[in-house]
Amino acid sequence: MKIEKSQRLKRLPPYLFKELDRQKEAVRAGGMDIIDFGVGDPDMPTPPHIIAALKEAVEDPANHRYPSYSGMEAFNRAVAVWYKQRFNVVLDPDTEVVTLIGSKEGIAHIPLAFIDSGDVALVASPGYPVYHVATQFAGGDLYFMDLLKENAFLPDLGAIPAEVVKKAKMMFINYPNNPTAAVASREFFDEVVGFAQAHNIIVCHDAAYSEMAYDGYKPASFLEARGAKSVGIEFHSLSKTYNMTGWRLGFAVGCREIIQGLGQIKSNIDSGAFQAVQMAGITALEGDQSCVEAMRHTYQERRDILVDGLRSIGLSVEKPKATFYLWIEVPDGFTSAAFAGRLLTEAGVVTTPGNGFGAAGEGYVRMALTVGRERIREALERIKSIGF
Ligand SMILES: *Cc1c(COP(=O)(O)O)cnc(C)c1O
Repeated sequence: MKIEKSQRLKRLPPYLFKELDRQKEAVRAGGMDIIDFGVGDPDMPTPPHIIAALKEAVEDPANHRYPSYSGMEAFNRAVAVWYKQRFNVVLDPDTEVVTLIGSKEGIAHIPLAFIDSGDVALVASPGYPVYHVATQFAGGDLYFMDLLKENAFLPDLGAIPAEVVKKAKMMFINYPNNPTAAVASREFFDEVVGFAQAHNIIVCHDAAYSEMAYDGYKPASFLEARGAKSVGIEFHSLSKTYNMTGWRLGFAVGCREIIQGLGQIKSNIDSGAFQAVQMAGITALEGDQSCVEAMRHTYQERRDILVDGLRSIGLSVEKPKATFYLWIEVPDGFTSAAFAGRLLTEAGVVTTPGNGFGAAGEGYVRMALTVGRERIREALERIKSIGF
């Protein structure tokens, strides 16, 4: 029998990290010690009080049954309370919140609720790949909004051609941004709301890094913009804030019709997040937030060591206000892949070539601050010894 993959899988763009993976294996096989700045996955454990809450909840048989599709009332209420405290935005936990099995799950599913064939989704390039893959899976077309340094890595909405705007049904944005580490102001979100209202476009704002910010900076919620709740929703995740990437827990909030559409898709596909995990999530959101402060402190310290070190070697990099990424310009004469390849083969340092996040990411590599201070210093020594 011949097993044939669907067109939807065959149409996926080629996996751009294949060559880098091959090089990584070769370097490892050669016995070189590898320092990996490639993955955006926190290297620190989930705080103990959250683990304790899971342990207690897992013993309760009431949590062994199918959870509610839209999330436990208590979790959605905890989300609304946290949101009011954090952003001063009021949410109705019954209609304006939906619990997700990680925010990736919600992002991957939402185009199924709103995109038909011929509809366009506006997606940032470079960007988190799930936005465009999910749009394609739903049969939609893509328009990539380039995030350029001269625009502070914000999309230039005025540059989108009129015929594209007319067909656009959804827009995905993400601030603080992965991979550029850019942040957005309230004014930018106001502009997005005006654009969405004028052209009838559903806005999906991915706020996975809303709590990972430095030097006292507090990222705004998209829903703080006037009228935002009538055009869009915001995705949040407990993954980065509480070192819970493996637990799979997130939520979406905002416009009730959009939340309802996403919930309807989900109710036909999954059966919600394990209640014990939601109970632990309540503890995370309601409990002592000093673990979040400690997380910021750790990444800020690493950021300073790595940025200062890279600059002293002669590389050009902004000090990010948020996220755990550095978006580094590759030196003259290199492509993203060539530079990442050189760092890997000669220094054993893994970075991610920027073009892997979209064509507009060419000319950059991304480094994730998921490596301890001593290893960062070691990596800097090695990069310095190659010289650029
Ligand atoms: C890490 C990340 C997420 C979080 O995904 P989860 O599914 O909640 O773990 C979402 N968006 C972006 C841009 C991310 O980098």
